[in-house]
Parts: sequence; C-alpha cells; structure tokens
Amino acid sequence: MMSLFKKSTQLFKDALSIIPGGVNSPVRACKNVDSQPLFIKKAQGPMIETVEGDRFIDYVGSWGPMILGHANPKVIEAVQNAAPNGLSYGAPTESETLLAEKIQNAFPSMEQMRLVNSGTEATMSAIRLARGFTGRNKIIKFKGCYHGHADALLVEAGSGLLTHDIPSSPGVPKGTAEETLIANFNDLDSVKKHFQTHAIAAIIIEPIAGNMNFILSSQSFLQGLRDLCDQHGSLLIFDEVMTGFRVAHGGAQAHYGITPDLTTLGKIIGGGMPMGAFGGKKAIMQHLAPIGPVYQAGTLSGNPIATAAGLATLTQLEQPGFYESLSKITQSLTHGINQIAAKHQLPCHANSLGGMFGLYWTHTSKIESFQDVSQYDHSLFKHFYHFMLANKCYFAPSAYEAGFVSITHSQADIDHTLKAFEQFCQEYATLPA
Ligand code: PLP
Repeated sequence: MMSLFKKSTQLFKDALSIIPGGVNSPVRACKNVDSQPLFIKKAQGPMIETVEGDRFIDYVGSWGPMILGHANPKVIEAVQNAAPNGLSYGAPTESETLLAEKIQNAFPSMEQMRLVNSGTEATMSAIRLARGFTGRNKIIKFKGCYHGHADALLVEAGSGLLTHDIPSSPGVPKGTAEETLIANFNDLDSVKKHFQTHAIAAIIIEPIAGNMNFILSSQSFLQGLRDLCDQHGSLLIFDEVMTGFRVAHGGAQAHYGITPDLTTLGKIIGGGMPMGAFGGKKAIMQHLAPIGPVYQAGTLSGNPIATAAGLATLTQLEQPGFYESLSKITQSLTHGINQIAAKHQLPCHANSLGGMFGLYWTHTSKIESFQDVSQYDHSLFKHFYHFMLANKCYFAPSAYEAGFVSITHSQADIDHTLKAFEQFCQEYATLPA
C-alpha cells in the first residue's frame, strides 16, 4: 500500500532525520496501524489530498476543528482580510472581545474567559486557576481522558498515549503526578473514594470522552460530579476542547444541562488556527493576573489572524438548522455502519452526537469506560484502516480516536464510505483467522 505513496515515503524519511519520529504530534506517525503518515498537499471541503495527488474523504478533520470542511471560503476570506493588517501586536484588539462574546453566547457558563493558543494551554491554565482559587493541590482526572500534554494532566491520559501504550510520561515529576488522582469514567464511587481521603481542588473531565474513542457520560454520573464538587467546595472543569461547538452549539454542557465552574475550549473556536480558551464563573476568573494573584499569559494569545478565523467559523455555526444538518449526515454514516456490520456479523458498532462519532471494534455496543473500549479487536481495526484508505476514506489511525464529520460531507461521500465498508465486511469474512 505504502509503495503507492512514494513521495510521502521520501518526505517521511527526510522528516525522520530532523523531527523526532518524523512528526510534530505522535499519533500522526500511524505506528499503531504499522504504517506511516500520508503527507498532505491541500484540502477542500470534506476532501484531503496527498502530495501524490490522491484524494480522500476525511473523517479526521484535523482532529476536530474542521467542522465547516477544509478551506471554508468565508474563513479563508477573513484570514486574507486580516493578514495585511499585521500578524501580531501583543496588544488588545476588538476581535478578541467579539470572539469571547460569540463563545459566551453558546456557553453562558463562561461569564469571563481568556483566549490562549491551544487546548493544552487552556486546560493547564484552568488547573492552575482552580488550585489558586481553592488553595488545594489535588485534582481528579479520569482514566482514558486526555487534556493536553501539561505535566499535571499527563497521567493515564487517552489516545496518543494509549495508542503508544504509555501509561504516564517520563519527565513528569513524581510529585506532580501524585497530585493527580485517577478515577474511572462513569463510575461515581471511584470519585467519591478520593473525596473521602483528600481535599480536592478540581475534577477535570471530557464530559463526552473523545480520546478513548467516543464515550458518553451518563446523566447521573455528571450530575453526581456536580453535586460532589458543590458539597466539597471543589471546582468542576469540563474540558470541551473537542466537544465544544462539536456535539451541539453549546457543547456537552448544553446537551446534559449541567453547568461546570470552568470550561476549556480549543479546536473549532480557532477554525483551524491555533486557539484555545478557558473561562467560567466571574468570581473565579477574577483571580487571574492582573486583577488577581494567579499568573497566566501568552505573547500570541488572542492573535488577530486566529481570532478572525474563529469569528468567521463561529458565525457560520449560528445558522439555524446547522447542527440538525450536521447530526443528520453523521447519523447516516453511523446508522449505515451499524446496519452493514450487523448484516455481516462483524464486531463493530457506531455511535454519534452532533458531528462526532465513535466506531467500537467490539461485540457489545455498551461502551461506558476505558475498560470497555480497550477490549477492542486490534487486528480487525487495522484491516479496516488500511482497506478504507485504499478505498479513499481517511479514518484516524487509532481505535482510541473519535471521528469527525463536517457540514460539507455529502450523502454521496457517506454512500461511497458505506459501500467501501460493505466490501470490507465481505472481504474480512473470507480472511484466514
Ligand atoms: N483536551 C482535549 C479534550 C483534547 O482532545 C485535546 C487535544 O486533542 C486537548 C485538550 C489538547 O489540545 P491541543 O492539542 O490543542 O493542545
């Protein structure tokens, strides 16, 4: 297969000599599927194109941001209009406030917010703020949830580390890791246990997990977390870097009707440019410098090109019916996969919310925890990845990643994908065990 991608192979070789692993973020290396990255030349709508000129229907979408499809004309125009005015000032602009207002419109719980440059910065800053606000050190995170690569959060974290079988990272000081307590997703008792023995600054959670495939929280579990935090004076942080503006306009917190103290965002709010945000109750946010003692800063934060791309993106998400259309096209993919897999008795199930979906390579569709998702059939997934790629469908190269559909994916794209999936099922059934 890879011999077809001659130029990518050469470019990867060149990259390997100067960039560790040849990539600037580990999951891109495609090691989990015994492969190598495709090098991309350009992308448009639902399609990405490699340096060889091969075009694929893209279900990765830059790992979430490209909800409007690639190279959305209004976003590109906004960037083109902003660029001649200078790329960075390190001084405030009106567009930062406008973007914050647009975000708040969808996330009313973010009474105040700060713009940063990535999801990692957003979660790292939210944790520092929670610790500074409560005067406590211990935080609780969930096994399999990923919140970026800041030290405190790189313990039992999802996708990238799971894909490469790394439970925690060397380089994270033992003392730092010890301040992070681990609980099990959808298991309230495993959280209560920590509250009995420790003073907790915050619980941080992906309210819909997207870094151990795609796992919904139960309503009672999230409500239980809210109640525990209220009882103990701890903060509830929803990491909606992936789910924000993705599962619904107001993210998972709107879907569940549960209000966190702090929210972190990233990905979609920058429309493909580096951007993150963290925010929440004003009384908490007022603890940030320069008004409060908790320090947080960024040379490029609120960058004018990134805010222009973010504003042009979020404006389009406000169109009536946007999320209905996005959900419909995503469901036509997941329903189709479920039907075809059932027909061929393949251990594969799909689920989705908004424009985010999961494919579980298991005999059960009841997926509630890291334990459930980690029982997947690795060989089946690997065959799926390569077969679909050969048939011009680009899925994430790890079974621990969620998938993403954009508003530009057409029914014809979905039909093409389902046809390829049906062929895969037929072919897989004939493979020697
Ligand atoms: N939080 C979640 C839920 C994420 O999915 C990610 C990245 O995938 C991050 C935080 C980190 O964001 P970034 O990669 O922009 O640093």
